[in-house]
Formats: sequence, C-alpha cells, structure tokens
Amino acid sequence: MIKDKLPKDLPSPCYIIDEAKLIENCEILKGVQDRTGCKILLAQKAFSNYDLYPVIAPYLAGTEASGLFEARLGAEEMPDKECHVFCAAYREQDFDELLRYAGHIVFNSPSQLKKFGRRAKDAGKQIGLRINPECSTQEGHEIYDPCAKGSRLGTTLNQWNEQMTPDLIELLDGIHFHTLCEQNSDDLEKTLTAVEEKFGDVLKKVKWLNMGGGHHITRSDYDIALLESCINRVKDRYNVQVYLEPGEAVALNAGYLFTRVLDVLKNGDVNIAITDMSAACHTPDVIEMPYRPPLYDSGEAGEKQYAYRLGGPTCLAGDIIGDYSFDAPLCEGSELIFGDMAIYSTCKNNTFNGMPLPDIWLKCSDNSFRLLARFGYDDFKFRLGSR
Ligand SMILES: *Cc1c(COP(=O)(O)O)cnc(C)c1O
Repeated sequence: MIKDKLPKDLPSPCYIIDEAKLIENCEILKGVQDRTGCKILLAQKAFSNYDLYPVIAPYLAGTEASGLFEARLGAEEMPDKECHVFCAAYREQDFDELLRYAGHIVFNSPSQLKKFGRRAKDAGKQIGLRINPECSTQEGHEIYDPCAKGSRLGTTLNQWNEQMTPDLIELLDGIHFHTLCEQNSDDLEKTLTAVEEKFGDVLKKVKWLNMGGGHHITRSDYDIALLESCINRVKDRYNVQVYLEPGEAVALNAGYLFTRVLDVLKNGDVNIAITDMSAACHTPDVIEMPYRPPLYDSGEAGEKQYAYRLGGPTCLAGDIIGDYSFDAPLCEGSELIFGDMAIYSTCKNNTFNGMPLPDIWLKCSDNSFRLLARFGYDDFKFRLGSR
C-alpha cells in the first residue's frame, strides 16, 4: 500500500509520481508498438513532468504537443525522438520558432494549411491535416467531444470538398483525427469505419495516419487485441504508418495526491472535512470534467460508517472533491491519498485564491522518494504583475 511507503515527514499537499507504475504503462504501450509497428507518442498536455521523460523515452516514439511551448519542451526534454504538434490555430509570430522544434505539424483547417503549409514543407516538415469524421462515440461529455455538432476541431468532409484544392492536397503527408476520451477500442473501431467511409480515398494517398489520443490502453478492461486489429486493418488497407498519441494512458494511475485534513465540521446532516488541497486549484478536472477521484481506504458515500464531504480551503462554494466514507472518523491531521493523480493535474493546476502549488515528488522504482519541484510565493506573484 502506498500509504505505508510514504516518508513520515512528507509535506502536504503534494503530488507523487509513481515511476514503477509509469514504466508498467509504458511496457504495455511498447508491446502494442512492437506487435503492430505503430508509433506511440506522449501527449504532453496530460502529463509533462519532464524529469520522467528519460524514463518514458526508451519505450515511446516521441512527444505530441498542443502548441509552441509543449513542442519546445518535447524537443528539449525528449531529444532524438519525434516531436509532433497539433494546434487549432497557429500564430504567425510563433510559427518560425515552432519549425525549430516539431518534425510533424498538423493543421486544423484548410485555411491554416494554406497559410503555413508551404513554409513548413519547405522547412522539411511532415504535414498533416486533422479531419473530423463526424462520428460521436461519447455521451454526456460534450466538452470532450470534438465530433459534436458545430465543432471547431478538424476538417469535415463538407469543408474538405469546398476548400481542399489540389495544391493543398498535394502538401499532405498524413491525416490526423482525435475524437475519443477515456474510451475503449470498440469506439475506435466505429470511428475508423467513419474515417474510411469519408476519407478512405485520401488515406490511399498519404504516408501516415495519426489516430489521436483518448485510447485508455493501460486500463485493465481495455481491449488491446481489438486496438491492434484496428491498427493492422488501416496499415494493410492503406499502407500507412499509424501513430497514436495517448496522454492519459501513459500515466494512468501513476500518481497520487497526498493531503491532510485541516478542519472537520458539520452542517445539518452533512459531515465536512476541509483538506489542505483544493479541487479547484490542484485537481481542476474534478470540477471541470467532473469526476470523483479514487481515494485510498475509503468507500462510496453510504458504504462505510463515517461519511464526509471533502472540500478545499478556497472561497469557492463548489470547491468540493466529493462524498466519501471511512471506517474511522476523520480529524484534524488525518492523512488522505487520492489515486490517479499524475494526469491533467500537475500540468493544469493554478494559484486561484493565492493557493500555493503543491510539491511534486517522485516515488522511484526502488521505493525511495525524491523531490522534483517545490513552489513558493514567487510562483503566485510573478504571473500577476511587474515586480
Ligand atoms: C487531448 C489530446 C490527446 C491526448 O488525449 P488523452 O485523452 O489524454 O489520451 C492527444 N491528441 C490530441 C490532439 C488531443 O487534443
């Protein structure tokens, strides 16, 4: 159990990255690459703790970036590996610098391809266009569905037919789609069918197909065999190099958030515990997505004897982590460990309310602990003004 392994004096709140679990995930991904010949990239927007890039690099083909800074990070911290970038729209003032970092540049629209494609091609880059197969496979999470009606992400067949002139098609080395979020390979299979129906003739002309992220490959119930048959199907039919760029799957369950209870109170029937971590600041996806993060040694709201609503110390009424229950009452100083906290956490946190950013620690494969990053007042202040 992770709790027994924590150093006694570990400060809270803090993130802990689990090197052994990260390697376990990478081994699964490497297996997919080895068996199919596909290439897998780390989508840095989910996990960009670059101290771990040397651990990840031997297993993966490179990094995927959402723009200039992530592309630079990938180029700097995972050098000698591929660096891909996709952005819904690139800025003129960033583009030349971007060409220094990225080898593959994916455009979102025919107009962006028209604006920058030739320049990127002349710089020796691989050029891709993101398509939108208009095949929604997720329900309830509209903000995570790039195929939702009116989506700005990816080029639809209609847009393609209206705007993709032969000189633009000529520029393309590859096609990219990203439509999934935390999904299994049956949804990929459905999506691929839509991609083939709409863009099969294009696939015959390009060298690679990037199937984006959202593949929950390292989740225990993920159907890897079906993923591999999907990869082999497009490889065989179109003779393309297949890329995947998962973020979550690389660091799934490879981190924790350690927090202590600062106060316990009661409002009517509701027992409340205020933690030194904030959902709004330190795990924003808990509120944005929303989801209820796993918490060690706890149960669902009514499952165990002592139920609490856990919330953060900020002024936001909705700074609630969730309802949990425990075998023993919580009190000031109680220690809690949330699971699956390596993804969309350290790279997405903020200092709203002047909340300090938590330390980032590494639990090394040999079970020793190492501090990777510590933050202070300056990290809060420097973004806000001139001094
Ligand atoms: C978000 C995103 C990814 C990674 O998604 P995960 O859900 O973390 O696997 C990959 N590619 C693109 C274009 C994305 O927007």
